[in-house]
Amino acid sequence: MVTLIVIIAVAAVAIIGGGIVGLVTSSRRRKDRSLPPQAGTDVITRPEEPTVEEPTVGEAEPETVPAEPAAPVIEKPESTASRLVRLRQRLAGSNALGRGLLNLLSTDRLDEDTWESIEDLLLTADIGVAPTQELVEGLRTRLRVEGSTADPKAALRDELIKLVDPSMDRRLQVSGADGAPGVVLMVGVNGTGKTTTTGKLARILVSEDRKVVLGAADTFRAAAAEQLTTWGERVGVEVVRGPEGTDPASVAFDSVKEGLDTGVDTVIVDTAGRLQNKAGLMDELGKVKRVIEKQTPVTEVLLVLDATTGQNGLIQARVFSEAVAVTGIVLTKLDGSAKGGIVVAVQRELGVPVKLVGLGEGPDDLAPFTPEAFVDALLG
Ligand code: GDP
Repeated sequence: MVTLIVIIAVAAVAIIGGGIVGLVTSSRRRKDRSLPPQAGTDVITRPEEPTVEEPTVGEAEPETVPAEPAAPVIEKPESTASRLVRLRQRLAGSNALGRGLLNLLSTDRLDEDTWESIEDLLLTADIGVAPTQELVEGLRTRLRVEGSTADPKAALRDELIKLVDPSMDRRLQVSGADGAPGVVLMVGVNGTGKTTTTGKLARILVSEDRKVVLGAADTFRAAAAEQLTTWGERVGVEVVRGPEGTDPASVAFDSVKEGLDTGVDTVIVDTAGRLQNKAGLMDELGKVKRVIEKQTPVTEVLLVLDATTGQNGLIQARVFSEAVAVTGIVLTKLDGSAKGGIVVAVQRELGVPVKLVGLGEGPDDLAPFTPEAFVDALLG
């Protein structure tokens, strides 16, 4: 008798005390995860369940035991605490803004030329005109008042933190009410890193012991669903997808239905980022949100922006925020970019906080954004 038992090793994931350092709002009790029939769902890439193969009656036993099929290897995503340390080093290592500012501030006499150079540096880093003037004014006043006792580095740190605005609530709304899953809608122009960020966010939530379903509603880009499926498989997360060209709203609907039926904590829906025209975008995102909300509210709308695109990114931000109520910003590709100032500019533009930052192409290169850690990384 041959009994093949395929066991999925489900990685036990350590929970960092208090969730992802205040990133995630209140958690809920896990519901029963028994799976109902999949009516209406096009394709679900479900992580393999353990299976037991029945022996065939009357069949002779083979002499050699066939090799067991390889069990899918489920990765253990990195914990938030360790990724924060690593990402901070990476940002500090790649950003010239803080070093340049500190060099200028430590010159013996801060004359008009030096202040102008400081302004230029801030503008080059995409902080924006008004915030640059505010920062320079604040610094000049403080250094004048404090005179010889002034500590330029401490003053710069304080002024930068003030600009980044520590009072904004940066927690991700990933939990729903009354036992329903939280629904996170990922929006943004293609190429900004939306699908990658969806996969990375799933890993963060899995590392926090949350159950997640992914919805591949970017049905216009052939590779997007495939890409998301790979992300899901790596951490044992289900991915709901439809045939290429399906109405994104139907995939969004199905993924949230699947999340409700299986009692997960969070459904993350990737969307198509075609900026064809504002009316088309509004129609599409509006419809996706409406059909989801026939079942349960969308709890978070994350706009993914590429930090290296400068003014263009700000224009995108404006268009998307008019199409859908954005509740948080993810700034990708901050690694290697000297454009950290975009954090300030985009928050001012939308009045919405940066909640996550992407700092590399690695699977765990996504971290919660905290103003103090960000400024300290800039100043090195
Ligand atoms: P989408 O079209 O918006 O879904 O974009 P993708 O998720 O396919 O990402 C586009 C490219 O950006 C990919 O090569 C990603 O690896 C890369 N990318 C995404 N986030 C980051 C990041 O934070 N840093 C860097 N360096 N690359 C990133």
